[in-house]
This record gives sequence, structure tokens and C-alpha cells, in this order.
Amino acid sequence: MKEKKTKQERTNGEQELTPEQYHILREKGTEAPFSGKLLYNTEKGMYVCAACGNELFSSDTKFDAGCGWPSFSNVLKDKIILQEDHRSGMTRREVLCKKCGGHLGHLFDDGPKPTGLRYCINSVSLGFKKKIVKKKRLKVSFLPLVSSY
Ligand code: FE
Repeated sequence: MKEKKTKQERTNGEQELTPEQYHILREKGTEAPFSGKLLYNTEKGMYVCAACGNELFSSDTKFDAGCGWPSFSNVLKDKIILQEDHRSGMTRREVLCKKCGGHLGHLFDDGPKPTGLRYCINSVSLGFKKKIVKKKRLKVSFLPLVSSY
């Protein structure tokens, strides 16, 4: 018997979302501060959209803003859309995934130099691809074995 696909699964290229991911990415929710798995992640790699895998932020731009959400001072080119968000009674810039439209977080102007920007992003909206560092083989050469006896 074929299982009926959910609305999420029918969307092109989209991965299945947990209820929490669905709430944030599709219903524009916000995770509790200091709750995100990736908040203190300091590994080198790429942060991607949890819904569609779109590469969004490099670990090189991640910083600890002390606000409780993963924060980045820059975003990869052409990966997000910004739109005005008036939902909380103030005007904020909402950050959306350009590929799937998923809600990621908000953009503020209190980030570190040189950009001065803080992309304040829900950890739940993100996946992380660890950078694989290939170990360089040291080129060594040995002296030829010479019998000196
Ligand atoms: Fe996406």
C-alpha cells in the first residue's frame, strides 16, 4: 500500500521536516534562545538550509553575539531573500532561503566589522556540513640503503 505523501514531501527537492523545523521554516516560528544545537558549533564548514540543503553561511563568518541564536556577519552571495517583517509590532528584516522560501531568522545592523551585520538565524533552520580537511601526505625521501660493511 502506498503511503500518502505529506505536503512537505511533495515540494520539489525538499527534505522531510520535523514538526519543530516545520514550525520555524514554514510558519515563521522562533526557537527558544540558547536552545539551538549549532549555537556553539565552532567547527569549520558550511551551514545549509535544513529544508532544501541550500548553502547559506560559512563558518568563517559565524560569531558569538551573545543573543542566544547562531549569528553570522555575512551570507553567501545570492542565497537568501530579505523582506520586511512587521509581525512583532516593529519593522525587522526577515531572512528567507532563496531556494525554498524557508524562514531562517532576521538581519540586524549590530554585527562586527567589516560588514556591521548580524544574521540572527534559528539553529533549527540550519544543517551543518563539516569541512573535510584532507591530510597532506608529507613527502619524504629516504636515503638509499647502502651497505657500508
Ligand atoms: Fe531552503
